[in-house]
Amino acid sequence: PQAKVSFSSQINAVAICRTPYKQKFGIPRQPGLVNATGYIEFEPAFNHVDAVRGIEQYSHLWLLFCFHENLAQGWKTTVRPPRLGGNEKLGVFATRSTFRPNGIGQSVVKLHGIVTRKGKVCLAISGMDLLDGTPIIDIKPYIPFSDAILDAKGGIAQDAPLLIPVYYTNIATTQIAHYAVQEQYQGLHELIEGVLSQDPRPAYKKAKDDPKLYQVALYDLDIFWHITPHGIEVLELKSTQ
Ligand code: SAM
Repeated sequence: PQAKVSFSSQINAVAICRTPYKQKFGIPRQPGLVNATGYIEFEPAFNHVDAVRGIEQYSHLWLLFCFHENLAQGWKTTVRPPRLGGNEKLGVFATRSTFRPNGIGQSVVKLHGIVTRKGKVCLAISGMDLLDGTPIIDIKPYIPFSDAILDAKGGIAQDAPLLIPVYYTNIATTQIAHYAVQEQYQGLHELIEGVLSQDPRPAYKKAKDDPKLYQVALYDLDIFWHITPHGIEVLELKSTQ
């Protein structure tokens, strides 16, 4: 008999993820690639410290979340993974594409502890690959003895992406130093370096000369950069406030 399971209308966000990533462009393509810090803020119905009692004994968590920004675009049977230069197609279930039938993503992140922010129970995390405001639908501890499979085959994504050098104009260096001493921009230099060294450009742009001026949005800062023969040069930062 055909399975008839319909439960999506009963799934509600348990929390919202707060991250420095204000737009999809530039977000690392998997967790653990960039040491960005963020928070999981529980929704009112789950805002109980009892709901996370014992969680601090784990170093990492699985986040299940909704690719909420892509839901409206639906999904296709096959997708073109950036790893394959955007040319070859693989089945949606053979990829980590954000355009999926139920729009569900999953990421392992590092847990730093339970904190209270603006009266809300929060989990301080790092290494996430999530857009700011992403709805979290479940959280579970990462259990190494079972979840870490040391001889697993990684298919088209066996290794972490190659990094490219990032360097800075004098004005960008001065601006980063100016912001980085402020509490809300802690680790800004490492964050910019981590994000840009992944070379966030779409695959087809990497194949030829690319004179374009690019921008990524981290916190409330627009970071402007371009490609040079030596790597990525950060030109300047502009506050969006
Ligand atoms: N680790 C997760 C997984 O495998 O399910 C996500 C992988 S997915 C390739 C990572 C990308 O999802 C990021 O680079 C970002 O562009 C995109 N993304 C992150 N949060 C999103 C959201 N809330 N809605 C849509 N796209 C999102």
